[in-house]
Amino acid sequence: MEEIYDLFCNYHNVLDDPELVDYKNLRNLFEQYSSLPSLDHLIFQLSIFFVCFHELGHLVQFSNKELLNQTAVNAMQEAYMTSIKAFDIEDHVMEIDADMRGARFLVDGVIDKWSKLPNDIKTEENLKKLIILSLVGASSFFIMVKKFPVTGIYYYETTHPHPLIRLMWLSHIVVERMETHYPSLERDDIIRETLRVLNVYSKYKHLGDTYENYIDPYVKHAKDISDYLYSLVETARTPGYEYLSK
Ligand SMILES: [Zn+2]
Repeated sequence: MEEIYDLFCNYHNVLDDPELVDYKNLRNLFEQYSSLPSLDHLIFQLSIFFVCFHELGHLVQFSNKELLNQTAVNAMQEAYMTSIKAFDIEDHVMEIDADMRGARFLVDGVIDKWSKLPNDIKTEENLKKLIILSLVGASSFFIMVKKFPVTGIYYYETTHPHPLIRLMWLSHIVVERMETHYPSLERDDIIRETLRVLNVYSKYKHLGDTYENYIDPYVKHAKDISDYLYSLVETARTPGYEYLSK
């Protein structure tokens, strides 16, 4: 969480980047109202919503497993991964299940904060910006939680799905959840804009090569990633997965 705080609350230089001028304008708008938190703190808060409810999702999974007399492995360490434990599709299913819970609360948090903003800030366009910045926060959590550098795209490897796969999943949940508030919001648009902003963050925060790890695989392998996500969702519906938090 300290790293996420550092990412968001020390990121004035990032929002000053010419590529993010729209977001800088939004930050300036926030600063005109003494009753509002800074945009930086708001995004930090929303990112933490995601992290907390993702972890809560794991707690629900483990608690349900105990109730179902299934072995609940001690997996409450998000840093337990990569080279130590072999691939198990169950780990990936558990992650996208926890991500779904985190994303729903993230969207609810964004809508709640946005609905209380002054009318000149409370536009559909700014709602999208808050969603994008929050997704950048959630994605940075995916990236930072990895002990080893993320490279390229992968599917049936390691304990957590590739951050790009998780971003695509989150975007799917966001669009679904925002349907009544923002029916014209499109998943592809969200992913592309999140990757664009993430790329600017990467320049300052050393989150790896965004083009190599996310943008390029998204352009080339979007269909394969969707198919993989679909296989995880289908697996989650099979017997033995009744413990998921859903
Ligand atoms: Zn997790």
